[in-house]
Amino acid sequence: MISLNHFQAEPESLIRAELDAVESVLRSGWYVLGDRVQTFEDEWSKSCGTRFAIGVGNGMDAIEIGLRALGIGSGDEVITTSMTAFATVLGILRAGATPVLADIDLDTGLIHIDSAQRCITSRTKAVLLVHLYGRICNMADWVQFCQQQHLYLLEDCAQSHLASWDGKVAGSFGEWGAYSFYPTKNLGARGDGGALVTNSDSINDQAKILRNYGQDAQYHHEIEGLNSRLDELQAALLSVRIKWLMSFTDKRRAIADAYYSGIDNPGVKLLRRESDRQHHVYHLFVIQVESRDKLLPHLRNHNIRAGIHYPIPIHHQPVCRTIQYDPNGLAAATTHAQHCLSLPCHPQMSDSEITTVIEAVNAFRP
Ligand SMILES: *Cc1c(COP(=O)(O)O)cnc(C)c1O
Repeated sequence: MISLNHFQAEPESLIRAELDAVESVLRSGWYVLGDRVQTFEDEWSKSCGTRFAIGVGNGMDAIEIGLRALGIGSGDEVITTSMTAFATVLGILRAGATPVLADIDLDTGLIHIDSAQRCITSRTKAVLLVHLYGRICNMADWVQFCQQQHLYLLEDCAQSHLASWDGKVAGSFGEWGAYSFYPTKNLGARGDGGALVTNSDSINDQAKILRNYGQDAQYHHEIEGLNSRLDELQAALLSVRIKWLMSFTDKRRAIADAYYSGIDNPGVKLLRRESDRQHHVYHLFVIQVESRDKLLPHLRNHNIRAGIHYPIPIHHQPVCRTIQYDPNGLAAATTHAQHCLSLPCHPQMSDSEITTVIEAVNAFRP
């Protein structure tokens, strides 16, 4: 079966290095927020081209902590996309702020700038971009938009490790970027993990206080914080896995290239290819198919397990009944949710598996 991930097939030398890292943490006698977290934070900020990285418990907490570090909360609106992981919106809600959903561009799956414009009110404080599927947004446009509108530019980079625009890495464009190291992400730990990256001294200071009960000095609490700390085991594993991120990313890009040149079926639409300025990292390779309900079993018959990211847009989630959104509606996000399908695209895929996927998609007749 060709599936969306295949961790058991990772190189033996990587697994060996991870086991050594685990042993060294176990024997060290220090398990939460220690030297290994510090080391990984230094490595990750360097990779992102930011001054700071702050390790936290997960990607959703990174969003909450980032918003709270900026003083964004009750009464403040944050514009984001309706086509994202639920955690994007839950992070905004957890910070006490109000999410406002913009529609997407059907050709890219990413938040549409005209729709974001329509979402602006006097209470809007920030735009939280999501580089969905590892596809970096058009950052030239968004930087200008946020400057003109006097809004904070924030980035949810949970799917976009090392994606870049004009060589500048995701998460380094605005106030902060929020990363997840959930196991399936392009850089994944072996449990939960996350980080905030920023160039701001005050966000760095605040985030470090917030992640640790709101402690600004030992046993002294100025604010109500969270318990959202990265542990030494995950940090040590991430420091091993970060060494492989570049080659794993190259592999994802090579698979995407093969799909772009090989997939040829009038019933299947591919998202827009990257421009010269974009460097996508293909966390997922998503296509759009009218008859998705028929393609899924067809692929399964060819031993291919595809995914759907995401079948229900945020504005159709039962818990989001009263959520605010673009006054013109969210038609593109609704359509995309009905037609999107994620093909296997992970670093352990063999050439013959890639060919199998291409041939199966091309053989599909709805
Ligand atoms: C995975 C993900 C998150 C949440 O990360 P967790 O570490 O699972 O909390 C947030 N946003 C997006 C776009 C994601 O894909």
